[in-house]
Amino acid sequence: MKNPNLIADSTKSLQLLYELSEQLASALDLQTTIEQVMALSAQYIGAERGSLVVLDVDQAPLDAVLIYEGRMQFNNAAQFADVVKRGLIAWVIEHREAAFINDTSQDDRWLKRQDDSPEQTGAKSAMCIPLEARGQLVGVLTTVQPQPNRFTQAEFDFLKAVADQAGVAIHNALLFDSLESMHRQYFELFEDNIASIIMTDPEGKITKANRAAYALMERIGRELVGTYISDFHHIPVNLVGHQFDKLYGGDVVTYDSVLEFLHGSTMPVKVSVRMLPRDIKGSIQWIFEDISSQKELETMRHDLLSMVYHDIRSPLANVISSLELLRVMVPVEEDQNVEDVFSVISRSSNRIQRLVSNLLDIDRLETGQAIVNARMVDLNVLVDVVTEDVAPLIESRDQHFTLQMDEGVDEVWADEDMLRRVLINLLENASKYTPVGGDVQFSIVREADGMLRFLIADTGSGIPSDMILTIFDKFTRVNPNRGPKGIGLGLAFCRLAVEAHDGRIWVESEEGKGSQFIFELPYNDGSMLHADV
Ligand code: ADP
Repeated sequence: MKNPNLIADSTKSLQLLYELSEQLASALDLQTTIEQVMALSAQYIGAERGSLVVLDVDQAPLDAVLIYEGRMQFNNAAQFADVVKRGLIAWVIEHREAAFINDTSQDDRWLKRQDDSPEQTGAKSAMCIPLEARGQLVGVLTTVQPQPNRFTQAEFDFLKAVADQAGVAIHNALLFDSLESMHRQYFELFEDNIASIIMTDPEGKITKANRAAYALMERIGRELVGTYISDFHHIPVNLVGHQFDKLYGGDVVTYDSVLEFLHGSTMPVKVSVRMLPRDIKGSIQWIFEDISSQKELETMRHDLLSMVYHDIRSPLANVISSLELLRVMVPVEEDQNVEDVFSVISRSSNRIQRLVSNLLDIDRLETGQAIVNARMVDLNVLVDVVTEDVAPLIESRDQHFTLQMDEGVDEVWADEDMLRRVLINLLENASKYTPVGGDVQFSIVREADGMLRFLIADTGSGIPSDMILTIFDKFTRVNPNRGPKGIGLGLAFCRLAVEAHDGRIWVESEEGKGSQFIFELPYNDGSMLHADV
């Protein structure tokens, strides 16, 4: 019911606004807030109809409440999808201005509906106010009376004052809503995560754990509450720092470790740890991943490979030695054809032997095992063996080969078989990846700093600049589907072998012009090498 005296009196209207602000201050959820604003507006102004639409940042209806013939209805926001695009509400949204209409039949902004015809309720009066907070439009409040000229300027001013408060209250309710839903999302992400997540304070004391972490700890028979993260697994201090100080940069640190079961057995795990930003109280987050099956598979693969390599190696060694014996027994010099067949068999079996040895070495060197057969190697002899080995390939490709050795370069401390295979690999590559008729150069230079430098240069396809560093990684190939066949393990072996000799290897190259693979070894009696060599 309209009560004109109620708000004609400014003291009274102030009192009403004060009441409204008190009610709104205690409501944080959106539904209650809009319900209160709508009810108070309609009641104090005495409007028969009204609506309050809450808008999202794209100005689409998010929520709405409607009053019709004094009864409150909660509306599906979708029902307002059209209303906010046309008519009075659309105008207020667009202009962000309050509208006061004495006679809706005389105002184009009012969208004429059936009940606006003179036979039905006819012309009406309306007020429509934008609800704003911090410069953002959060909704629109509309009140309607079924006859023209029923609202006064005082009521319009009063509704604008209500709208000011309602805007802020709705904005707060929206913020609270999104905060709550973010909190819910975070909680669900944390609690229901299939990874085992444990939170500790900056000293490593466990403060929180999710369901998966509790289940994991139950499996290993450990308590979580009141314990320290270091109580059940070894933490690599070199990676995380003595007081977790290396985590302060915010990066995720990952390492493999083992969880120690109470009864003594262990479970291999991958741990990812990071310090959460300071505004989340500087907690540390630890994620544990059970990698038992991965480790089992790795061990099986490793055992299987070693078995295969060893099982190939010994019969192959028999083939090679029997072949040498046969060569002595058969007078091959007398028949060039027999000589040719012998050399093909011998080169091929030597090649297989080299490949198997390379694979075995990759396996051994990768696990950090040191070389065991180092001794003083006569470089002249080695260079002869190596060049003799690659000569047939270079000749078959009509390439021009040059060899240059510095004066006085005669010995190096190395595992001879390994060094021979490194050189053959690099020389074979130089020939393989250089067109027919190109150049292959092999030099050994003594550096002033006491290093011996081996250089293998070619005029071949070269290495793209973005692969200069990765080309020594396993299975890396420049054009895997074109050019000579290979699997990309040769250079990986070369790097492991050179580094095991305390040397270094790299490549200098210009694509399309050629490459120069260079490696350096200490030119000494081995005193600089590992003590266990
Ligand atoms: P593979 O020759 O079996 O592929 P490598 O590890 O010996 O394996 O070489 C890896 C890749 O590096 C080769 O596939 C080739 O793309 C490139 N590469 C190696 N040596 C040369 C070279 N001298 N010139 C151009 N590309 C080369």
